[in-house]
Amino acid sequence: MYIVHIASECAPVIKAGGLGDVIYGLSREVENRGHTVEIILPMYDCMRYDHIWGLHDAYKDLYVPWYDGTVHCSVYCGWVHGRLCFFIKPHSQDQFFDRGCYYGCDDDAMRFAFFSKAALEFLYISNKRPDIIHCHDWQTGLVPVMLYEIYKWHGMANQRVCFTVHNFKHQGIAGGEILKATGLNNEEYYYSYDRLRDNFNPFALNLMKGGIVYSNHINTVSPHHAWEARYSDVSYGLGHTLRLHHYKFDGILNGIDYNIWNPEIDTLIPHKYTIDVFEGKAKNRKALRERLLLRDEHKPIVAFVGRLDGQKGVDLVHHAIYYSIHHNAQFVLLGSATEPRINNWFVHEKGFLNDNPDCHLELGFNEELAHLIYAGADIIVVPSVYEPCGLTQMIGLKYGTVPVVRGVGGLMDTVFDKDYDQYHSPEKRNGYVFYQNDNHALESGLERAISLWHYYPKEFESLQKQGMEYDYSWNNPGRQYVRLYDYLRHK
Ligand code: ADP
Repeated sequence: MYIVHIASECAPVIKAGGLGDVIYGLSREVENRGHTVEIILPMYDCMRYDHIWGLHDAYKDLYVPWYDGTVHCSVYCGWVHGRLCFFIKPHSQDQFFDRGCYYGCDDDAMRFAFFSKAALEFLYISNKRPDIIHCHDWQTGLVPVMLYEIYKWHGMANQRVCFTVHNFKHQGIAGGEILKATGLNNEEYYYSYDRLRDNFNPFALNLMKGGIVYSNHINTVSPHHAWEARYSDVSYGLGHTLRLHHYKFDGILNGIDYNIWNPEIDTLIPHKYTIDVFEGKAKNRKALRERLLLRDEHKPIVAFVGRLDGQKGVDLVHHAIYYSIHHNAQFVLLGSATEPRINNWFVHEKGFLNDNPDCHLELGFNEELAHLIYAGADIIVVPSVYEPCGLTQMIGLKYGTVPVVRGVGGLMDTVFDKDYDQYHSPEKRNGYVFYQNDNHALESGLERAISLWHYYPKEFESLQKQGMEYDYSWNNPGRQYVRLYDYLRHK
């Protein structure tokens, strides 16, 4: 099959979070299964050009219809660690992708509407006719809309669209301008509740809703989150739309790339280790302490790696820091916040805890330190408010770092409580799960993990190894996506 991803990120060139990892990992897996995969991305000025090989112009003069005229674009092409990527660079005064950031501009909806239009125009003009166009998140929600309403009439009637929602929180709320810009003429038609009109703001269009309504298939990134999205409030107002389209909606768990996240071959950690040769884990703990100037005491290290964002349960992360250092453990945090309130809060905490020999807060994005933390820590906390899939608990498991998670979304599908899980036999359990979103609940999980480390070290080691035995690679999700593509192709 021939699959084209249209996305706003692809690790490691463009990575703001898990989406980037997924685009890269999934493409690689599907390609390894014998299919042709290409990725279309915006050409941001701030992306990591050092991760692109052989960058050259693939299509010099692409004229993308925009309002009543056209925008001149160039399409560049290069390999990102073996994946063939096309980067769209518009030459217009709007400088859509020359903003020094990926997201967070006032005109984000317009920027990504343009990207969606340009990606489709590129496929159309360059005569690429993939079996499947795989779109991701609201940024590409207009792709299936334009494919069905415009490009279908230009010889692209056989392309099928799979739309993956990685996070329902951001939906791309836009005004009618976007219709004029992209050539979707007939406002009244698109403003219908059956199509793009936002379910709650009658004056707005919702690009993610457009993606849901027009795609041939929609999925989110774990089965449990797919259930939550329909029946609870985590789909941020799209529950009704999802229930209407339930026959084409499901959840496929993400994987992680075991070529990157694997303590056996990880070049970013000082001591490699496996289930059978496990001594390296303790050596990495020592290395982590040295690197972050923590004292070398007989205590476990509890870690948090992730965005410092309301979604990630920052209040509970904050509580976990103090709970750990007051209960015979050390704490390491690696996180970056985009919201100034949260950033200031953690900067303040960092200053306050600066001299504490049992705690280190690292604010910022640091891929290499992340690897050392996964390898050197004993316990990883993931107290998310909601979590579509979550990669950090799966990475933690692979590195023998016991996850303590809140039982939501993909965390429910991947972590099974050592003491209370009813569906897995004791030797298949791999961490600790708590359910309520409060300090006591977090403590119930963290206390059990820290105590096991101190008082039953052999059991703790077994739990670590049971986690390492799980296969959360792209192998299973890759198979499921290929099956889905094949089904859609024949639809
Ligand atoms: P998100 O909601 O951000 O997509 P995920 O758990 O799905 O959360 O993915 C987070 C990914 O980003 C993981 O690979 C994690 O290691 C990485 N990550 C998050 N924050 C940082 C950071 N500050 N430094 C390095 N890596 C980070």
